[in-house]
Amino acid sequence: MDGELRRSMRAPRIVSVNTSLFELFKIGIGPSSSHTVGPMRAALRFVQSLDTQGRLADAARVRVDLYGSLALTGHGHGTDRAILLGLMGEAPDTVNPAVIEAELAAVRNTGTLYLLDREAIPFNEAEHLLFHRNQMYPDAAIPTHPNGMRFSAFDATGGLIAQETFYSVGGGFILSASEFEAQRDSSAPSTRTVPYPFHDAAELLSTASAHGLTIAQLLLANEVALLSELSITRPAPLDEAASSPEERVKNSIFAIWRTMQQCTERGLATEGILPGGLNVRRRAPRLARRLETEGSRDPLAPMDWVTVYAMAVNEENAAGGRVVTAPTNGAAGVIPAIAHYYMRFIDGADEAGIVRYFLTAAAIGILYKENASISGAEVGCQGEVGVACSMAAGGLVAALNGTNDQVEHAAEIAMEHNLGMTCDPIGGLVQIPCIERNGMGAVKAINAARMAMHETLGHKLSLDQVIATMYQTGLDMQSRYKETSLAGLALNIIEC
Ligand code: SF4
Repeated sequence: MDGELRRSMRAPRIVSVNTSLFELFKIGIGPSSSHTVGPMRAALRFVQSLDTQGRLADAARVRVDLYGSLALTGHGHGTDRAILLGLMGEAPDTVNPAVIEAELAAVRNTGTLYLLDREAIPFNEAEHLLFHRNQMYPDAAIPTHPNGMRFSAFDATGGLIAQETFYSVGGGFILSASEFEAQRDSSAPSTRTVPYPFHDAAELLSTASAHGLTIAQLLLANEVALLSELSITRPAPLDEAASSPEERVKNSIFAIWRTMQQCTERGLATEGILPGGLNVRRRAPRLARRLETEGSRDPLAPMDWVTVYAMAVNEENAAGGRVVTAPTNGAAGVIPAIAHYYMRFIDGADEAGIVRYFLTAAAIGILYKENASISGAEVGCQGEVGVACSMAAGGLVAALNGTNDQVEHAAEIAMEHNLGMTCDPIGGLVQIPCIERNGMGAVKAINAARMAMHETLGHKLSLDQVIATMYQTGLDMQSRYKETSLAGLALNIIEC
Protein backbone atom coordinates (compact mmCIF):
# COMPACT_ATOMS: atom_id res chain seq x y z
CA MET A 1 0.00 0.00 0.00
CA ASP A 2 1.83 1.76 1.04
CA GLY A 3 3.44 3.83 -1.49
CA GLU A 4 0.17 5.34 -2.31
CA LEU A 5 -0.95 5.83 1.26
CA ARG A 6 2.34 7.26 2.43
CA ARG A 7 2.47 9.74 -0.37
CA SER A 8 1.81 13.24 0.83
CA MET A 9 -1.57 14.49 -0.38
CA ARG A 10 -1.50 17.29 -2.86
CA ALA A 11 -5.11 17.39 -3.96
CA PRO A 12 -6.32 20.92 -4.75
CA ARG A 13 -8.25 22.74 -2.07
CA ILE A 14 -12.03 22.52 -1.96
CA VAL A 15 -13.57 25.97 -2.02
CA SER A 16 -17.06 26.83 -0.93
CA VAL A 17 -18.42 30.20 0.05
CA ASN A 18 -20.97 31.53 2.48
CA THR A 19 -21.16 28.43 4.60
CA SER A 20 -23.85 28.71 7.27
CA LEU A 21 -23.49 28.35 11.03
CA PHE A 22 -26.08 25.57 10.76
CA GLU A 23 -23.87 23.60 8.40
CA LEU A 24 -21.00 23.67 10.88
CA PHE A 25 -23.26 22.90 13.85
CA LYS A 26 -25.44 20.01 12.64
CA ILE A 27 -27.43 17.59 14.76
CA GLY A 28 -26.39 14.02 13.97
CA ILE A 29 -25.15 10.83 15.56
CA GLY A 30 -21.76 9.52 16.61
CA PRO A 31 -19.08 8.53 16.31
CA SER A 32 -17.80 10.42 13.27
CA SER A 33 -19.04 13.26 11.11
CA SER A 34 -16.91 12.29 8.12
CA HIS A 35 -17.20 8.51 8.54
CA THR A 36 -20.73 8.18 9.97
CA VAL A 37 -22.81 11.30 9.24
CA GLY A 38 -21.38 11.93 5.75
CA PRO A 39 -21.71 8.32 4.47
CA MET A 40 -25.25 8.06 5.85
CA ARG A 41 -26.21 11.24 4.03
CA ALA A 42 -24.53 9.99 0.84
CA ALA A 43 -26.34 6.63 0.96
CA LEU A 44 -29.65 8.35 1.58
CA ARG A 45 -29.05 10.80 -1.25
CA PHE A 46 -28.22 7.94 -3.64
CA VAL A 47 -31.43 6.01 -2.96
CA GLN A 48 -33.53 9.19 -2.95
CA SER A 49 -32.09 10.01 -6.36
CA LEU A 50 -33.01 6.53 -7.59
CA ASP A 51 -36.51 7.09 -6.28
CA THR A 52 -36.80 10.50 -7.94
CA GLN A 53 -35.79 8.95 -11.26
CA GLY A 54 -38.43 6.22 -10.81
CA ARG A 55 -35.72 3.54 -10.71
CA LEU A 56 -35.90 2.43 -7.08
CA ALA A 57 -38.12 -0.57 -7.79
CA ASP A 58 -35.74 -1.65 -10.60
CA ALA A 59 -32.83 -1.96 -8.20
CA ALA A 60 -32.25 -5.66 -7.52
CA ARG A 61 -28.82 -5.19 -5.99
CA VAL A 62 -26.76 -2.31 -4.59
CA ARG A 63 -23.00 -2.31 -4.11
CA VAL A 64 -21.03 0.24 -2.09
CA ASP A 65 -17.27 0.68 -2.48
CA LEU A 66 -15.29 2.56 0.19
CA TYR A 67 -11.80 3.96 -0.32
CA GLY A 68 -8.96 5.63 1.57
CA SER A 69 -9.64 6.58 5.16
CA LEU A 70 -13.25 5.35 4.95
CA ALA A 71 -11.93 1.88 4.11
CA LEU A 72 -9.13 1.93 6.68
CA THR A 73 -11.05 3.19 9.71
CA GLY A 74 -14.64 2.75 8.55
CA HIS A 75 -15.39 -0.25 10.76
CA GLY A 76 -14.26 1.55 13.91
CA HIS A 77 -16.02 4.75 12.88
CA GLY A 78 -19.35 3.04 12.12
CA THR A 79 -19.28 3.66 8.37
CA ASP A 80 -20.76 0.22 7.63
CA ARG A 81 -23.68 0.89 9.97
CA ALA A 82 -24.20 4.38 8.56
CA ILE A 83 -24.32 3.13 4.97
CA LEU A 84 -26.95 0.51 5.80
CA LEU A 85 -29.07 3.03 7.68
CA GLY A 86 -28.83 5.58 4.87
CA LEU A 87 -29.86 3.02 2.26
CA MET A 88 -32.85 2.21 4.46
CA GLY A 89 -33.87 5.87 4.42
CA GLU A 90 -32.55 7.07 7.76
CA ALA A 91 -31.00 10.54 8.14
CA PRO A 92 -28.43 11.51 10.81
CA ASP A 93 -30.55 14.27 12.33
CA THR A 94 -33.76 12.25 12.60
CA VAL A 95 -32.70 8.64 13.17
CA ASN A 96 -33.61 7.42 16.63
CA PRO A 97 -30.37 6.14 18.23
CA ALA A 98 -32.44 3.75 20.36
CA VAL A 99 -33.65 1.72 17.35
CA ILE A 100 -30.44 1.57 15.34
CA GLU A 101 -29.26 -1.77 16.74
CA ALA A 102 -32.60 -3.45 15.97
CA GLU A 103 -32.66 -2.07 12.42
CA LEU A 104 -29.14 -3.28 11.72
CA ALA A 105 -29.79 -6.67 13.29
CA ALA A 106 -32.81 -7.14 11.03
CA VAL A 107 -30.66 -6.64 7.92
CA ARG A 108 -27.83 -8.81 9.17
CA ASN A 109 -30.06 -11.64 10.39
CA THR A 110 -32.30 -11.82 7.32
CA GLY A 111 -29.87 -10.78 4.57
CA THR A 112 -32.58 -8.44 3.32
CA LEU A 113 -32.41 -4.64 3.21
CA TYR A 114 -35.38 -2.41 2.41
CA LEU A 115 -34.27 0.55 0.27
CA LEU A 116 -35.99 3.66 1.65
CA ASP A 117 -37.86 1.25 3.93
CA ARG A 118 -39.83 0.02 0.87
CA GLU A 119 -38.00 -2.05 -1.74
CA ALA A 120 -36.44 -5.32 -0.56
CA ILE A 121 -33.03 -6.34 -1.93
CA PRO A 122 -30.63 -9.05 -0.78
CA PHE A 123 -27.78 -7.44 1.14
CA ASN A 124 -24.71 -9.27 2.35
CA GLU A 125 -22.01 -6.94 3.65
CA ALA A 126 -19.12 -9.18 2.58
CA GLU A 127 -20.39 -9.05 -0.98
CA HIS A 128 -22.12 -5.69 -1.26
CA LEU A 129 -20.16 -3.35 1.05
CA LEU A 130 -16.50 -3.42 0.06
CA PHE A 131 -13.63 -1.80 1.98
CA HIS A 132 -10.77 -1.13 -0.45
CA ARG A 133 -8.01 -0.77 2.12
CA ASN A 134 -5.28 -0.65 -0.53
CA GLN A 135 -6.73 2.15 -2.62
CA MET A 136 -6.82 5.78 -1.56
CA TYR A 137 -9.19 7.23 -4.18
CA PRO A 138 -12.20 5.90 -6.13
CA ASP A 139 -10.18 6.38 -9.31
CA ALA A 140 -6.76 5.19 -8.15
CA ALA A 141 -4.91 7.41 -10.61
CA ILE A 142 -6.65 10.69 -9.72
CA PRO A 143 -6.01 12.26 -6.30
CA THR A 144 -9.26 13.64 -4.99
CA HIS A 145 -10.22 13.31 -1.31
CA PRO A 146 -9.30 10.42 1.01
CA ASN A 147 -12.93 9.88 2.03
CA GLY A 148 -14.36 8.62 -1.26
CA MET A 149 -17.23 6.18 -1.76
CA ARG A 150 -19.05 4.84 -4.81
CA PHE A 151 -22.64 3.61 -4.91
CA SER A 152 -23.83 1.34 -7.74
CA ALA A 153 -27.31 -0.05 -8.39
CA PHE A 154 -27.99 -3.02 -10.69
CA ASP A 155 -31.20 -4.39 -12.13
CA ALA A 156 -32.31 -8.06 -12.08
CA THR A 157 -30.19 -8.87 -15.15
CA GLY A 158 -27.07 -7.40 -13.54
CA GLY A 159 -27.17 -4.27 -15.67
CA LEU A 160 -25.91 -1.06 -14.07
CA ILE A 161 -28.81 1.36 -13.67
CA ALA A 162 -27.17 4.08 -11.56
CA GLN A 163 -23.77 4.94 -10.16
CA GLU A 164 -22.58 7.92 -8.12
CA THR A 165 -19.35 8.80 -6.35
CA PHE A 166 -19.43 10.93 -3.20
CA TYR A 167 -16.78 12.46 -0.99
CA SER A 168 -17.23 13.03 2.73
CA VAL A 169 -15.16 16.17 3.11
CA GLY A 170 -15.35 16.68 6.88
CA GLY A 171 -17.93 17.80 9.41
CA GLY A 172 -20.67 15.71 7.75
CA PHE A 173 -20.44 17.69 4.49
CA ILE A 174 -20.71 15.55 1.35
CA LEU A 175 -20.08 16.34 -2.29
CA SER A 176 -20.94 14.33 -5.37
CA ALA A 177 -18.11 13.87 -7.86
CA SER A 178 -19.38 16.73 -10.01
CA GLU A 179 -19.87 19.02 -6.99
CA PHE A 180 -16.38 18.14 -5.85
CA GLU A 181 -14.92 19.16 -9.20
CA ALA A 182 -16.93 22.37 -9.27
CA GLN A 183 -15.81 23.36 -5.78
CA ARG A 184 -12.16 22.79 -6.60
CA ASP A 185 -12.48 25.72 -8.95
CA SER A 186 -11.81 28.68 -6.62
CA SER A 187 -13.11 31.10 -9.24
CA ALA A 188 -16.57 29.53 -9.21
CA PRO A 189 -19.07 32.11 -7.90
CA SER A 190 -21.17 31.37 -4.85
CA THR A 191 -24.84 30.81 -5.48
CA ARG A 192 -25.61 32.24 -2.04
CA THR A 193 -25.94 35.93 -1.33
CA VAL A 194 -25.18 37.48 2.05
CA PRO A 195 -24.83 41.16 3.02
CA TYR A 196 -21.32 40.81 4.44
CA PRO A 197 -19.36 38.18 2.50
CA PHE A 198 -15.85 37.45 3.75
CA HIS A 199 -13.19 35.17 2.39
CA ASP A 200 -10.52 35.43 5.05
CA ALA A 201 -10.03 36.81 8.54
CA ALA A 202 -8.59 40.10 7.29
CA GLU A 203 -11.72 40.72 5.22
CA LEU A 204 -13.94 39.66 8.11
CA LEU A 205 -12.26 42.22 10.39
CA SER A 206 -12.20 45.03 7.84
CA THR A 207 -15.84 44.51 6.82
CA ALA A 208 -16.97 44.42 10.44
CA SER A 209 -14.97 47.57 11.19
CA ALA A 210 -16.28 49.42 8.13
CA HIS A 211 -19.87 48.76 9.20
CA GLY A 212 -19.36 49.18 12.94
CA LEU A 213 -20.33 45.58 13.66
CA THR A 214 -19.07 42.90 15.96
CA ILE A 215 -18.22 39.62 14.27
CA ALA A 216 -21.33 38.13 15.87
CA GLN A 217 -23.56 40.90 14.49
CA LEU A 218 -22.04 40.47 11.04
CA LEU A 219 -22.63 36.74 10.99
CA LEU A 220 -26.17 37.15 12.34
CA ALA A 221 -26.99 39.39 9.38
CA ASN A 222 -25.54 36.79 7.01
CA GLU A 223 -27.55 34.01 8.66
CA VAL A 224 -30.74 36.03 8.31
CA ALA A 225 -30.02 36.32 4.58
CA LEU A 226 -29.47 32.56 4.40
CA LEU A 227 -32.86 31.77 5.97
CA SER A 228 -34.27 31.38 2.47
CA GLU A 229 -31.55 28.89 1.47
CA LEU A 230 -33.48 25.62 1.42
CA SER A 231 -30.42 23.36 1.31
CA ILE A 232 -29.52 24.37 4.88
CA THR A 233 -31.19 22.33 7.61
CA ARG A 234 -31.79 24.26 10.83
CA PRO A 235 -33.32 22.93 14.02
CA ALA A 236 -36.86 24.30 14.23
CA PRO A 237 -37.00 27.55 16.18
CA LEU A 238 -39.40 27.55 19.12
CA ASP A 239 -41.73 30.19 17.69
CA GLU A 240 -41.21 30.43 13.94
CA ALA A 241 -44.42 32.26 13.08
CA ALA A 242 -44.18 35.02 15.64
CA SER A 243 -40.51 35.86 15.68
CA SER A 244 -38.42 38.19 13.56
CA PRO A 245 -35.79 36.70 11.22
CA GLU A 246 -33.09 37.54 13.78
CA GLU A 247 -35.07 35.80 16.53
CA ARG A 248 -35.58 32.75 14.31
CA VAL A 249 -31.83 32.44 13.81
CA LYS A 250 -31.21 32.92 17.54
CA ASN A 251 -33.88 30.37 18.45
CA SER A 252 -32.29 27.81 16.14
CA ILE A 253 -28.94 28.53 17.83
CA PHE A 254 -30.61 27.86 21.19
CA ALA A 255 -31.95 24.57 19.79
CA ILE A 256 -28.38 23.60 18.86
CA TRP A 257 -27.16 24.60 22.32
CA ARG A 258 -30.01 22.65 23.95
CA THR A 259 -29.06 19.52 21.98
CA MET A 260 -25.47 19.96 23.15
CA GLN A 261 -26.66 20.32 26.74
CA GLN A 262 -28.76 17.15 26.49
CA CYS A 263 -25.77 15.30 25.05
CA THR A 264 -23.61 16.52 27.94
CA GLU A 265 -26.26 15.48 30.48
CA ARG A 266 -26.44 11.96 29.02
CA GLY A 267 -22.66 11.73 29.00
CA LEU A 268 -22.48 12.76 32.66
CA ALA A 269 -25.13 10.22 33.64
CA THR A 270 -24.19 7.14 31.60
CA GLU A 271 -21.71 4.61 32.95
CA GLY A 272 -20.19 1.59 31.23
CA ILE A 273 -17.80 0.41 28.55
CA LEU A 274 -17.75 2.10 25.17
CA PRO A 275 -18.48 -0.11 22.13
CA GLY A 276 -15.86 -1.25 19.65
CA GLY A 277 -13.78 -3.78 21.58
CA LEU A 278 -11.15 -1.46 23.05
CA ASN A 279 -12.78 -1.77 26.49
CA VAL A 280 -12.57 1.95 27.16
CA ARG A 281 -14.57 2.83 30.27
CA ARG A 282 -16.67 5.98 30.35
CA ARG A 283 -15.02 8.32 32.86
CA ALA A 284 -17.10 11.50 32.78
CA PRO A 285 -19.78 10.40 35.32
CA ARG A 286 -17.23 9.33 37.92
CA LEU A 287 -15.09 12.45 37.42
CA ALA A 288 -18.19 14.65 37.73
CA ARG A 289 -19.26 12.94 40.96
CA ARG A 290 -15.81 13.43 42.40
CA LEU A 291 -15.79 17.10 41.46
CA GLU A 292 -19.23 17.59 43.00
CA THR A 293 -18.07 16.19 46.33
CA GLU A 294 -14.41 17.18 46.52
CA GLY A 295 -13.54 19.62 43.80
CA SER A 296 -15.19 22.82 44.92
CA ARG A 297 -12.28 23.70 47.24
CA ASP A 298 -9.79 23.49 44.39
CA PRO A 299 -9.24 26.83 42.61
CA LEU A 300 -8.69 24.93 39.36
CA ALA A 301 -12.01 23.08 39.63
CA PRO A 302 -13.51 25.09 36.73
CA MET A 303 -10.78 23.70 34.48
CA ASP A 304 -11.59 20.18 35.68
CA TRP A 305 -15.25 20.79 34.86
CA VAL A 306 -14.33 21.96 31.36
CA THR A 307 -12.47 18.70 30.82
CA VAL A 308 -15.36 16.64 32.18
CA TYR A 309 -17.93 18.40 29.99
CA ALA A 310 -15.85 17.79 26.89
CA MET A 311 -15.27 14.15 27.78
CA ALA A 312 -18.96 13.60 28.52
CA VAL A 313 -19.88 14.76 25.02
CA ASN A 314 -17.19 12.70 23.35
CA GLU A 315 -18.06 9.58 25.30
CA GLU A 316 -21.62 10.00 24.05
CA ASN A 317 -20.22 10.44 20.56
CA ALA A 318 -18.08 7.31 20.86
CA ALA A 319 -21.20 5.41 21.94
CA GLY A 320 -23.03 6.46 18.76
CA GLY A 321 -25.37 8.85 20.58
CA ARG A 322 -27.00 12.09 19.47
CA VAL A 323 -24.36 14.83 19.08
CA VAL A 324 -23.84 18.11 17.25
CA THR A 325 -20.92 18.48 14.85
CA ALA A 326 -18.73 21.30 16.13
CA PRO A 327 -17.25 21.42 13.55
CA THR A 328 -16.89 17.60 13.49
CA ASN A 329 -18.06 14.74 15.68
CA GLY A 330 -14.57 13.78 16.80
CA ALA A 331 -14.12 17.35 18.06
CA ALA A 332 -17.71 17.74 19.26
CA GLY A 333 -16.83 18.26 22.94
CA VAL A 334 -14.82 21.48 22.81
CA ILE A 335 -17.53 23.97 21.82
CA PRO A 336 -20.16 22.75 24.35
CA ALA A 337 -17.52 22.52 27.10
CA ILE A 338 -16.65 26.20 26.71
CA ALA A 339 -20.33 27.17 26.53
CA HIS A 340 -20.90 25.31 29.82
CA TYR A 341 -17.82 27.01 31.28
CA TYR A 342 -19.15 30.42 30.30
CA MET A 343 -22.62 29.82 31.71
CA ARG A 344 -21.45 28.20 34.96
CA PHE A 345 -18.32 30.07 35.91
CA ILE A 346 -18.54 33.57 34.41
CA ASP A 347 -20.41 36.18 36.46
CA GLY A 348 -23.12 37.85 34.41
CA ALA A 349 -23.20 35.14 31.74
CA ASP A 350 -26.49 35.18 29.84
CA GLU A 351 -28.20 33.94 26.70
CA ALA A 352 -27.02 36.95 24.71
CA GLY A 353 -23.47 35.86 25.46
CA ILE A 354 -24.28 32.35 24.26
CA VAL A 355 -25.55 33.79 20.97
CA ARG A 356 -22.36 35.86 20.57
CA TYR A 357 -20.33 32.75 21.37
CA PHE A 358 -21.92 30.52 18.73
CA LEU A 359 -22.05 33.17 16.02
CA THR A 360 -18.42 34.14 16.50
CA ALA A 361 -17.21 30.55 16.78
CA ALA A 362 -19.08 29.80 13.54
CA ALA A 363 -17.45 32.75 11.74
CA ILE A 364 -14.04 31.33 12.67
CA GLY A 365 -15.06 27.81 11.68
CA ILE A 366 -16.19 29.12 8.29
CA LEU A 367 -12.70 30.57 7.73
CA TYR A 368 -11.17 27.12 8.26
CA LYS A 369 -13.84 25.35 6.21
CA GLU A 370 -13.39 27.68 3.24
CA ASN A 371 -9.64 28.28 3.36
CA ALA A 372 -8.27 25.00 4.67
CA SER A 373 -10.03 21.84 5.85
CA ILE A 374 -11.94 20.45 8.81
CA SER A 375 -11.28 16.84 7.78
CA GLY A 376 -8.94 14.72 9.91
CA ALA A 377 -8.42 12.49 6.88
CA GLU A 378 -7.14 15.48 4.94
CA VAL A 379 -5.13 17.51 7.49
CA GLY A 380 -4.99 15.47 10.72
CA CYS A 381 -6.47 16.35 14.09
CA GLN A 382 -5.28 19.96 13.86
CA GLY A 383 -8.25 20.32 11.46
CA GLU A 384 -10.70 18.85 13.99
CA VAL A 385 -9.83 19.45 17.65
CA GLY A 386 -7.44 22.21 16.57
CA VAL A 387 -10.19 24.04 14.67
CA ALA A 388 -12.71 23.49 17.47
CA CYS A 389 -10.19 24.96 19.94
CA SER A 390 -9.68 28.00 17.71
CA MET A 391 -13.43 28.48 17.26
CA ALA A 392 -14.09 28.18 20.99
CA ALA A 393 -11.29 30.58 21.91
CA GLY A 394 -12.61 33.29 19.60
CA GLY A 395 -16.19 32.59 20.63
CA LEU A 396 -15.34 32.88 24.32
CA VAL A 397 -13.72 36.28 23.76
CA ALA A 398 -16.93 37.44 22.07
CA ALA A 399 -19.08 36.05 24.89
CA LEU A 400 -16.91 38.04 27.30
CA ASN A 401 -17.47 41.17 25.19
CA GLY A 402 -13.93 41.30 23.86
CA THR A 403 -13.10 43.19 20.68
CA ASN A 404 -13.03 41.79 17.17
CA ASP A 405 -9.23 42.05 17.19
CA GLN A 406 -9.08 40.03 20.41
CA VAL A 407 -11.35 37.40 18.85
CA GLU A 408 -8.98 37.08 15.90
CA HIS A 409 -5.96 36.96 18.20
CA ALA A 410 -7.46 34.26 20.44
CA ALA A 411 -8.38 32.10 17.47
CA GLU A 412 -4.86 32.51 16.11
CA ILE A 413 -3.18 31.57 19.41
CA ALA A 414 -5.39 28.51 19.78
CA MET A 415 -4.53 27.11 16.37
CA GLU A 416 -0.87 28.09 16.58
CA HIS A 417 -0.45 25.60 19.40
CA ASN A 418 -2.33 22.80 17.70
CA LEU A 419 -0.26 22.88 14.51
CA GLY A 420 0.98 19.48 13.43
CA MET A 421 -1.42 17.45 15.54
CA THR A 422 -1.94 14.09 13.87
CA CYS A 423 -4.97 11.82 13.73
CA ASP A 424 -4.09 8.29 14.88
CA PRO A 425 -7.14 6.82 16.63
CA ILE A 426 -6.44 3.43 18.19
CA GLY A 427 -8.40 0.64 16.54
CA GLY A 428 -10.01 3.16 14.21
CA LEU A 429 -12.31 4.11 17.08
CA VAL A 430 -13.08 7.70 18.03
CA GLN A 431 -11.97 7.07 21.63
CA ILE A 432 -8.20 7.22 22.20
CA PRO A 433 -6.86 9.90 21.91
CA CYS A 434 -10.04 11.68 20.87
CA ILE A 435 -11.99 11.83 24.15
CA GLU A 436 -9.21 13.28 26.31
CA ARG A 437 -8.03 15.41 23.42
CA ASN A 438 -11.32 17.33 23.48
CA GLY A 439 -10.73 18.13 27.16
CA MET A 440 -7.25 19.36 26.36
CA GLY A 441 -8.54 21.41 23.45
CA ALA A 442 -11.18 23.06 25.61
CA VAL A 443 -8.71 24.02 28.35
CA LYS A 444 -6.35 25.39 25.71
CA ALA A 445 -9.19 27.50 24.27
CA ILE A 446 -9.69 29.24 27.63
CA ASN A 447 -5.99 29.90 27.90
CA ALA A 448 -5.88 31.36 24.39
CA ALA A 449 -8.87 33.62 25.10
CA ARG A 450 -7.31 34.88 28.33
CA MET A 451 -3.96 35.55 26.64
CA ALA A 452 -5.64 37.51 23.86
CA MET A 453 -7.78 39.56 26.25
CA HIS A 454 -4.77 40.44 28.43
CA GLU A 455 -2.76 41.60 25.43
CA THR A 456 -2.81 45.31 24.66
CA LEU A 457 -0.28 45.42 21.82
CA GLY A 458 -0.57 43.97 18.32
CA HIS A 459 0.56 40.44 17.54
CA LYS A 460 3.00 39.10 14.98
CA LEU A 461 1.01 36.27 13.44
CA SER A 462 -2.40 36.71 11.87
CA LEU A 463 -5.21 34.18 11.93
CA ASP A 464 -5.02 33.97 8.15
CA GLN A 465 -1.32 33.07 8.34
CA VAL A 466 -1.91 30.34 10.88
CA ILE A 467 -4.86 28.91 8.90
CA ALA A 468 -2.66 28.73 5.81
CA THR A 469 0.08 27.11 7.89
CA MET A 470 -2.33 24.53 9.28
CA TYR A 471 -3.45 23.58 5.80
CA GLN A 472 0.07 23.36 4.37
CA THR A 473 1.16 21.32 7.38
CA GLY A 474 -1.77 18.99 6.84
CA LEU A 475 -0.91 18.47 3.19
CA ASP A 476 2.72 17.75 4.09
CA MET A 477 1.69 15.25 6.77
CA GLN A 478 2.10 11.64 5.67
CA SER A 479 -1.23 10.01 4.97
CA ARG A 480 -0.71 7.33 7.60
CA TYR A 481 -1.08 10.06 10.24
CA LYS A 482 -4.41 11.19 8.81
CA GLU A 483 -7.26 9.00 10.07
CA THR A 484 -5.91 5.74 8.74
CA SER A 485 -4.87 4.16 12.07
CA LEU A 486 -1.64 3.03 10.39
CA ALA A 487 0.78 5.01 12.57
CA GLY A 488 1.29 6.86 15.83
CA LEU A 489 -0.70 5.71 18.85
CA ALA A 490 -2.73 3.38 16.66
CA LEU A 491 0.44 1.50 15.73
CA ASN A 492 2.25 1.49 19.06
CA ILE A 493 -0.56 0.62 21.44
CA ILE A 494 -1.72 -2.96 21.59
CA GLU A 495 -5.49 -3.20 21.39
CA CYS A 496 -6.98 -5.13 24.26
S1 SF4 B 1 -7.62 11.89 16.57
FE1 SF4 B 1 -8.73 13.83 16.25
S2 SF4 B 1 -9.20 13.89 14.02
FE2 SF4 B 1 -8.64 11.77 14.56
S3 SF4 B 1 -10.59 10.71 14.95
FE3 SF4 B 1 -9.81 11.48 16.93
S4 SF4 B 1 -10.75 13.51 17.19
FE4 SF4 B 1 -11.00 12.96 15.01
